[in-house]
Amino acid sequence: MPDLREVADPAPSPDGVVIKVAATGLCRSDWHGWMGHDPAIALPHVPGHELAGVVEAAGPRVTGWRAGDRVTVPFVCACGRCPACAAGEQQVCERQTQPGFTHWGSFAEYVAVENADVNLVGLPDGLGFAAAAGLGCRFATAYRALTAHGRVAPGQWVAVHGCGGVGLSAVMIAAAAGARVVAVDISPAALDLARAFGADTCLQGPDGVPETIAEVTGGGAHVSLDALGDPRTCANSIACLRRRGRHVQVGLLPPQAVPAALPMERVIAYELSVLGSHGMPAHAYGPMLDLVAAGTLRPDRLITTTIGLAAAPRALAAMGTTSPPGVTMIEP
Ligand SMILES: [Zn+2]
Ligand SMILES: [Zn+2]
Repeated sequence: MPDLREVADPAPSPDGVVIKVAATGLCRSDWHGWMGHDPAIALPHVPGHELAGVVEAAGPRVTGWRAGDRVTVPFVCACGRCPACAAGEQQVCERQTQPGFTHWGSFAEYVAVENADVNLVGLPDGLGFAAAAGLGCRFATAYRALTAHGRVAPGQWVAVHGCGGVGLSAVMIAAAAGARVVAVDISPAALDLARAFGADTCLQGPDGVPETIAEVTGGGAHVSLDALGDPRTCANSIACLRRRGRHVQVGLLPPQAVPAALPMERVIAYELSVLGSHGMPAHAYGPMLDLVAAGTLRPDRLITTTIGLAAAPRALAAMGTTSPPGVTMIEP
């Protein structure tokens, strides 16, 4: 079982900052880390990558940020100098750092973030820390999966397989974009939330899901997301698409898990697109933050549970089995 310990405060690197954490989300990726699915994690380790807070100290080469700034970060913190970064695709940076994975994360009072001028996102005045904390991982990932990859348009059908934090975010974002949403989960409580966030149709999966979606949507979804990261939901997501449909893989499928068997014959016959989504770079946050500021998107409504740091170890370990529906937020 992980536990809560007193450790030395981090210091900022020359290009980095230290952020005083005000809120940090509990995410399935943290659970994967805890389960040992990420070989980069060495013990002892501090998880946590969905954070918002206040800059406590900035390194000498940071020009855009200073102590007192209210900020969040994408979970992929980019280097700003590699070819991917030069192309504006910081979410797939070749030398990325990730708090909670490549170094100690935000289930703590303070967290260090590298390359602050590339990665920090200032929070609009009206946006609270708890709502902002989820933006860097699940909400931005769902947003970019639907907009940049899914290219979702009003009136189209979107299927969301798995209604945890990222899935519920996707339901909310797709509905706000004018799409009609089919939400799939095994948990009736998660489906109740999906309905509240704008899903037209809720299906208890995973059996018979592609067939039912084809029926409900009159031929299949235009865009479908595996928001869980499971061979079954991945295959269902591809199989529920109509011709020329787009599958976006959002949930992690760690290499240690059973490999997903993709129906490539269907991918060819229907000319499907199979796309991966790996977060969203800091420079792309503007349109999403505008929708949040306008109240069109309400990340605050995803938070169903708020706990302190002392309760975090148990909540992390429970994620595989008994975690509550919606998003659990930790406020150190
Ligand atoms: Zn996350
Ligand atoms: Zn880079």
